[in-house]
This record gives sequence, structure tokens and C-alpha cells, in this order.
Amino acid sequence: MIKSFVTGFPRIGEKRELKFILEKFWTKKAEFSEVLEVANELKKRHYNYQKDIDLVSVNDFCLYDIMLDHIVAFNAIPKRFCHLKDEELYFALARGNSSLHALEMTKWFNTNYHYIVPELSKDTKFSLNSKKFIDELNFAIENRVNLKFNLIGPITFLALSKTIDDSDKFDLLDDLVAEYEKLLGELASIKKDIIIQIEEPIFSTSKGENLVKFIKPVYTKFSSIKDLKILFSTYFEHSTNVIKDVIESGIWGIGQDYVYGKFCEKCLDLIANSNLTLFAGVIDGRNIWKSDISKKLEFISKLKEKINQNRLYVGTSCSLLHVPFSLKYEDNLDENLKNWLSFAIEKLDEITLLRDLLNGVDRSDDLDKNIKANQSRKTSTIVHKKSVRNRVENLTKFQRDLSFEERIKIQRDELKYPILPTTTIGSFPQTTELRQMRNAYKKGLIDSEVYTNHIKDYIKDCVKFQEEIDLDVLVHGEPERNDMVEYFGEMLDGFAFTSNGWVQSYGSRCVKPPLLYADVSRPAAMTVEWITYAQSLTQKIMKGMLTGPVTILNWSFVRDDESKDIVATQVALAIADEINDLQNAGIKIIQVDEAAFKEGYPLRDENIKDYENSSIKAFKLSTSLAFPKTQIHTHMCYSEFNDIIKTIEAMDADVISIETARSGNELLKIFKEAGYKAEVGPGIYDIHSPRIPSVEEMVKQIEAILEVLPKERLWINPDCGLKTRKWEEVKPSLKNLVEATKISRV
Ligand code: GLN
Ligand code: ZN
Repeated sequence: MIKSFVTGFPRIGEKRELKFILEKFWTKKAEFSEVLEVANELKKRHYNYQKDIDLVSVNDFCLYDIMLDHIVAFNAIPKRFCHLKDEELYFALARGNSSLHALEMTKWFNTNYHYIVPELSKDTKFSLNSKKFIDELNFAIENRVNLKFNLIGPITFLALSKTIDDSDKFDLLDDLVAEYEKLLGELASIKKDIIIQIEEPIFSTSKGENLVKFIKPVYTKFSSIKDLKILFSTYFEHSTNVIKDVIESGIWGIGQDYVYGKFCEKCLDLIANSNLTLFAGVIDGRNIWKSDISKKLEFISKLKEKINQNRLYVGTSCSLLHVPFSLKYEDNLDENLKNWLSFAIEKLDEITLLRDLLNGVDRSDDLDKNIKANQSRKTSTIVHKKSVRNRVENLTKFQRDLSFEERIKIQRDELKYPILPTTTIGSFPQTTELRQMRNAYKKGLIDSEVYTNHIKDYIKDCVKFQEEIDLDVLVHGEPERNDMVEYFGEMLDGFAFTSNGWVQSYGSRCVKPPLLYADVSRPAAMTVEWITYAQSLTQKIMKGMLTGPVTILNWSFVRDDESKDIVATQVALAIADEINDLQNAGIKIIQVDEAAFKEGYPLRDENIKDYENSSIKAFKLSTSLAFPKTQIHTHMCYSEFNDIIKTIEAMDADVISIETARSGNELLKIFKEAGYKAEVGPGIYDIHSPRIPSVEEMVKQIEAILEVLPKERLWINPDCGLKTRKWEEVKPSLKNLVEATKISRV
């Protein structure tokens, strides 16, 4: 019989119960025991939802982050935290406290989930503190769960760590592995023949190639521990290059992502001819579309031909952490669309359906429903729009007229900005009042006139302030926007929004990505009214503010029934039309933000060229209607451009603002070395901190960047949008920024 599994399950709770109790605890409105109570309730409930699955994950649950749980379990605690213990320690590591800064946080592979980065040094001494893990196991046993136990593997743990003393983190591998061995022994002594899913997703990336050499030594040790079955699991891409070593280390099973990883016949043969049990990840853990079960059946039949049924499990491609919880609260979604979707709970049904059908159980009604749903999507007129298709097919203009060199001359004549022009990245502080106002308007509690006036007042204040401090290029402040992608999604056709489709981003933070489900078009201008209003208040140049196509795609759940290229083209055309409307309404500078451009990079080098080409194509198309005299800015939220400078150049923006405030002028050098020609605004004010930089400090920063790039090509700006800051911080900081610039100009 073929069995089923789930790689991992979302933990935040279908009503975000974990989030709310954590936040109450952090603000001292709840006891820690109440947090644990909620956690136990959630675990029980989640086990119950998964009761028909043959292997349910245990230890996928945690209060903040699972890497953090490993940091604590192996006692990889940086010295500054050593006086703390228990929950105080745990949350201080994650969030810092009044005197200690937290551990760093960064993106988990190419997802929008963020993990806590272990901070190691050559003095790190691992020692096992298995309490949380053992508690998880006992709790699951008490609740009679058909379990496998999840751990992050030691190679991935180290690969995702950083050392603070430049030592080689892999020098610590033997010590860490020794502690893992103890842990595995303890788990096996509690439950004989326990299956341990050891996750090693680093091997799905090109970075993992240098680490393959560690697999055999480490996993041979693990395989010799008595009474347990080790499952070596990777996800998000293929890891075909590890199969040989995994087989030779003699462990029990291997997990492969067959949704995001390519299928390789030879690899399957290798697995088939070994003793490995195969965990086939076939149900998409990263996206929200109902699977085409017939296609999945066909695929697994291929596996079945070679692999004995008793050695085959079917399940998710990765943890379901990355999709929303359930469709059951989505009362406002279009019924057709809802019928094409599948969130975590619904995916469980897909897995059992697939398993049952493979095992010859008659579930033809359910299969029929699945077939009908997918067929209706293929032909639906709410998805496929002739006019959008025609426009894409008949496109003739893909980029701007004239080269950068020709354009910039025209722009400088037209815009007449001074040397070292000052500007900001777009948003000004989002006050509580503003948020309340937007929510009230959305809920229909206030009418459009009240709302519009409120936003206009905010814009007025922004413009007045920017004029007072004498900034050169102004912005309207983005008060009408909740989020830089959601705002545009709501204005475009082809997007839908869930009521409760939350996905954990980090800790208690969740996001609700838009669903890009259909051909995209722009029924009406999206920003022109606000920007032209702002422009009407000032003689200075008002910069229009848009989000770019690559970022819109990267932060949405994107349809899987159309090529990414075509979807990106459609979104790009909508942005292009908006730029055209803005320039025709007298807006002379327009910024197209690509905040998520770099994070969309593929995990495997062999896919980078495709990503870059289609991203460049989409960005160029989105700006293709800009007149030569219209200056196009872009902004990217990072500072490391070494690997991507040629791609940035090919995007052909006139000005790029970047996040270099924390790295001095070091990272800027690549712009010079690569012969980058366009104008650059290296952020000189770090907006990620409440600190107000002084005039002297910023003069120094400007001097440092002037050592690298000529003043004729430099802009002076903060390093990102100001929406998370307070006015008390923003006002003096920007005032100092302008003053520092004036000093540097002479
Ligand atoms: N224009 C946006 C803002 O200022 C850009 C945000 C971002 O880059 N993350 O908020
Ligand atoms: Zn930014």
C-alpha cells in the first residue's frame, strides 16, 4: 500500500491564535502558561485535521521559529544572552530586549518566511538541551499521532548560520553532529523505530554543492543509531546530486520535491535500485491552486513502475507553512475562484485522495469533482480575457526610446535639479490614525469624501514639510497605501483578496498575499489623482510612485495555468499605462519600486539566466511608454549588487536608489567597477533604526560615496521608505540630510 505524508503544517492557527496570545504575552497581558495552553490546543487541533494522513509531522510546531528552537536545543547561545533562561531567553534571542539586540533574521530560501540566524564563533560549544523536542514527542504520543519527527539537519543548520569571527562554521560540524546523535538516541529510546525527517534544504541550492562531501560522514553515523529510521528530506528545488551519497550512507528514506524540482529518470533508477523509501512531494506546498489529480496520478504511476509500493509515500512538496490555512472562512471569494483553490486543509484532502486512488479505493466522485473544477478553470471567462491576450500577442514596443545617455541630457535640461539632488524613497510615517482611517473606509464606516479629505490633508502636510526643509524632489507620502503590492492588486483586474489567507512571515507576523488568478488589466488609473493633487500643491518636482512587475509577482500567489512570462507581461503593461497617464498629467519623475527583485532569485544557478531575462524584460516593458524626458527611478531594498550589477544596468532605469546606509561606500564600488552609467542614490540615512543621524555624520557619508562616484551622478536620499518610522524621527533626520547635502555641495 502507498502511504501519505505531510512535510510540515502551519502553526499560527486558523484564526492566528498563536499570534494573538504571543502578542498579549509580550505586552504582559497574558501569562506564559496561557501561551502554552493555546499552543497545545493548536497542536491537538492540527493533529486532528491530519488524522487521515499516514505520517504527520511532529516538532513542526514552535512558538517563534524552528531554527531558533534548534539554536536553543544545541545551546548555540551567543554570550550576551547567557544570563537568561527559558522563555525569557527564547524571546530575547528572537526579538532582543531593552538592552540586547536580537539575533539576525533572514529569508528562508526563496520563500517569504524568515528564520532566526544562528550566531556562532569558533568558541561555540554545542550541548544538547532536548527538553522542547522530547516534550513535543511525548505530547504527540499522548495524542496518538501517526508520527514522524521533524528536525533541521546539521549541515543546513550550519550553512544557514553566520560566524562573528570569520571562522569556518563547518569546523563545528563534528561537535554538532555528536549532539544530534545524542538527540536521535533519546528520541529512539522513547519511540522505537521512530521516523525522523531530517530536513536538508541547503542541498536544493547551488550553494549546497560544496557541502555534498559532508553527507556520507554525517549520515553514516546517524544510520548506525539503533531503532530509528532517518528520512533525508529536501524541498523547494531538486537535489539530484545528493542521491548517491544518501544511498551510500545507508539511511532509510529520501524526500524529493517533484513540484519545484525537475524529475530525473536516472535518479529514480538509483533510488529504485537502493533500499531507500521514497517520499514523493507532489502536492504543491508553495502555491494555492487545486492540484490536477489526474496528472499527479499519471506521474506517480511512473514512480510506481520502478518502486515497490511499500517503499513509496505521497505528500507535500514542502511544509504547508507557506500557504494559508483553510478556505472555510472565505465567504467573499468568487465561488468559481474558490473552487479552484486549495489551502493547507484542502491540500490534506488532495493527499488522501491521491493515496486512496493509487491504492485502488473507489473515490471516483471526488476525482470527478477535481477534474470538473480544473476544467472549468481552463475555459472560464473570468480568467481568460481576449482583449488582454490580444494586446500581449500584438506587442511591438518593448522598451524606451533613446539610450540612457541621450535621455539623461534631455532630462537634466527639463528637470534642472541641482548637483546632489535630494529626495526620499516614497512613504512617510504611517500613523495609527491613518491606518484607522483606511480601515474605516474599507469597512464602509466613513464615506469617500471624508476619507479623501483626510488623505489629502496628510499629503498637504507632507508637501509642506518637504518644502520647508527644502528637499529637491518631493513625494506624496503614500498615505492611501496599506502595502505596496496589495494597493496595486486591489486596483487591477485579475487579482483577488482573501479574508483570512494569512501566511506566517516571521514570529507572530503574518502577511496576506494577493491571489493573481486571471489575465491582468487596469480598468482605470491607479495613482494619478493622488499624485497630481500633490503636484498641484508645489512648484517643485513631484515624484510619482509605483510598484514594479517583478515585485508584484514575487509577493503574490501567482496563477499556475499560465507562463510567468505572460503574467509578468500583463502586469508590466498595466504599469506602463499608469506611467503614461502620469506623464500626460504633468508628472516628470516616476519611481518604479522593485523591492523584491533580488529575493526572487532562483536557488539554483542554472535557472538564474531565465529569471534575469524575464525580469529585465518585464521591467523594461513596464517603463517602455515613458517619454525620454520622463525620468524613471527605481528602488531596491538591499546593498549587495556584485552578482547582479549587469542585470540592474540592463533594466535601464535613469536613477536607482539603494540600501547602502549601513555599509559605508564599500558595496558601492561595484557600480564604479562595472562602469555603471546611470544615476545612483545610495541611502545615507538608515531608516531601519530610530536613531537620528547628525549633519556631520551624513556629511561624512556623502564624502565617502563621493570617493566612489562623481557628484554629477549621485542622488542623496534615505535608504528605504519611511513608513515604519515616527514623524519625530523623520523630521529631524531629513532636515539634517538636506543640510548635510548643502554643505557637501560647496
Ligand atoms: N516606495 C516604497 C516606500 O517608500 C518602497 C518600499 C520598499 O522599498 N520596501 O515605502
Ligand atoms: Zn526599500
